Amino acid sequence: MAYLQRYNQPLLALMLLHCLAWGPGPTSGGSPGTHCRSGSLKVKLTLCILLSFLPKNSPLFVTMMTQIKSIAILAFAAAAMAQKLDKPALTPDLDYLNQGNIDNHGPTQSTTAGYEAGQIPADCKDRAQAEGHDPADMEVTYVTYTDCADPWVFCRHKDSVPSLVDLQDMFGRVPVGMRDYVKHVMSFPGGQGAYNYGGDIVFFDTAGLTFDVWLHESAHSLDLQGAITGDSATTYSSTDNWVNNYNQDPNVADNYAQSNMVENFAQETVVAIYDKAVPGGFGGVQPSYNNLFHQYATVQGDAGAKIITGGTCNRALQPSGPVSISSTARRTTSAYERPEHTFSQKYSNLRAPNLKANTKDTCKIGHKH
Ligand SMILES: [Zn+2]
Repeated sequence: MAYLQRYNQPLLALMLLHCLAWGPGPTSGGSPGTHCRSGSLKVKLTLCILLSFLPKNSPLFVTMMTQIKSIAILAFAAAAMAQKLDKPALTPDLDYLNQGNIDNHGPTQSTTAGYEAGQIPADCKDRAQAEGHDPADMEVTYVTYTDCADPWVFCRHKDSVPSLVDLQDMFGRVPVGMRDYVKHVMSFPGGQGAYNYGGDIVFFDTAGLTFDVWLHESAHSLDLQGAITGDSATTYSSTDNWVNNYNQDPNVADNYAQSNMVENFAQETVVAIYDKAVPGGFGGVQPSYNNLFHQYATVQGDAGAKIITGGTCNRALQPSGPVSISSTARRTTSAYERPEHTFSQKYSNLRAPNLKANTKDTCKIGHKH
């Protein structure tokens, strides 16, 4: 253990533990299809040995340690997402809240314009390819709502079940303070459910027709993109305040909320929104509302106006930059950093997106939501 003392570097110790662990790597990451596989032991050992001999202040050492730090953070986040909750569900699902929510969240008027020919936002190209679709089959549209000067760019697969009008209507009903934390809206045919990927909300099959799924996916953005903590590197559902309030309730909202704390936060947010928006509140439809009270009241207190209809946008995430639809070149980081064609960037709330935070899969939980 002498080399650990030599560097006096806790991260190195962490990394070495990771190196020597014989098992799956981090389960949440930015490269779909690879992050559930166990890393090569040979590569890991080479890295360990290399790090042990590199001078501490060499640029290579610093770069490698930065990478290792982000892997370690992801590993902890993945562990949190894999942790099933042991509180019983108050009801099997939250279907009983959907109609009240849609009835009390009116649409926001919007106009559309076609995207630049031959181009597509980098995120949409990535998602289309990751889901086995041809980016050329994506219909890319600017959607501008009356409560925001800048459009959102929607990417709808030509065979998607919800029409563009359906998607426009649903997203316009989501409180603008939640839309602020959504980068792109996407819809694909086939598959099931929906997920949030680095601030993009991605729907499959008919999921984009159910309003509470929009609220759930937008709630993930609030949590994973730092809307409440103010820092996109710190998820709200991992904070002491959230966990302490969770600990004071006997139940979670439904079976899906039991999946993990990230999913629980999203479901409790659906409850919180219902309670605020629907006359009679959650107690009007759920006599045991008190069994979730600490959780949904905490969302209401901490998310504040963000989950209430009204107001104007203050966008937190700029859309991903344009790339060629047909090019097979790998995207570069500049596509993330380059602003969208029309995005003004005139917002006090803009932040670096947490591109790696996603709910696509946690390896152990098979389905998308
Ligand atoms: Zn979810």
